[in-house]
Amino acid sequence: MSSPIVIEPLIRVENLKKSFSAGSSFSIKKKEVRAVNDISFEIYEGETFGIVGESGCGKSTTGRTILRLTEPSGGKVFYNGQNIFELKEKEFRKIRQDLQMVFQDPFASLDPKKRIGYSLEESMIIQKVGTKEERRNRVLELLEKVGFNEDHYDKFPHEFSGGQRQRIGIARALVLNPKFIVCDEPVSALDVSIQSQILNLLKQLQVDLGLAYLFIGHDLSVVRYIADRIGVMYLGEMVEKSTTDELFANPLHPYTKSLLSAVPIPDPDIKKERIILKGDVPSPIHIPSGCVFHTRCPFAMERCKEEKPVAIHVGENHEVQCHLYDK
Ligand code: SF4
Repeated sequence: MSSPIVIEPLIRVENLKKSFSAGSSFSIKKKEVRAVNDISFEIYEGETFGIVGESGCGKSTTGRTILRLTEPSGGKVFYNGQNIFELKEKEFRKIRQDLQMVFQDPFASLDPKKRIGYSLEESMIIQKVGTKEERRNRVLELLEKVGFNEDHYDKFPHEFSGGQRQRIGIARALVLNPKFIVCDEPVSALDVSIQSQILNLLKQLQVDLGLAYLFIGHDLSVVRYIADRIGVMYLGEMVEKSTTDELFANPLHPYTKSLLSAVPIPDPDIKKERIILKGDVPSPIHIPSGCVFHTRCPFAMERCKEEKPVAIHVGENHEVQCHLYDK
């Protein structure tokens, strides 16, 4: 009997941690800000993994740390089976072109004094890819892929609208033929009508080029539209992880339930009870003991204050970090 085929993930994140020290340079005692604490997930070729959570939950730091735009405090990230945190700068540079990022603010990530054609060619020049003519042709091909023509090559960023600039941001991420792109809130600064254009463009490019995305967002409707699986983050921890359909049909963690209760349903006959959480998100300098969510959880028990819940498998593709589900 032949053994079953095991598909390896393109990206495997294991126990990722990222802390920053806070306080002025004059203070003797520096405080630790725990931005990301011990999170694990994997992303397969051609798949979109979404991360949702309120601002400050650590989702953007997760994306930046995976790409080594900021150094990790602990854990491992495997790309094609290789732990990229162990690679020396020179070795990492070789696979850097496979791992790209689309930023939230496309204007801030484009040099206002440089023509779009040059901004797109820049990473090929740095990586010494192709001749001048080949680079120009590559950029023209990508401009066409994201809905522009040759005339846009010589324009400056201020000549484009917000949605157009985000399409340029996407083209720039594609220049070096990446396999994996971190999309950090790529549509949250755009009008709703433009958001769907960008999301559809990302989906089409994924089909055409077999890309894997880590899609970071705070709007659950947006993440639901694009992601195959979703991880929910709260105070630096991934409290629930599931396929998108399962998460929306059967949310388990009290925090996920409260997030989903705020998503409008486009059917006036369906009534939904909104779960309003008490208090604010605690400071990441003073992370609560036990379950990080216990200060706001409507179901908190005595043990939640002391005992940290571990991730429990509640289905083939569903994990939750909550004492309500441990047997
Ligand atoms: Fe709420 Fe306790 Fe579950 Fe945390 S572990 S989410 S406090 S019930």
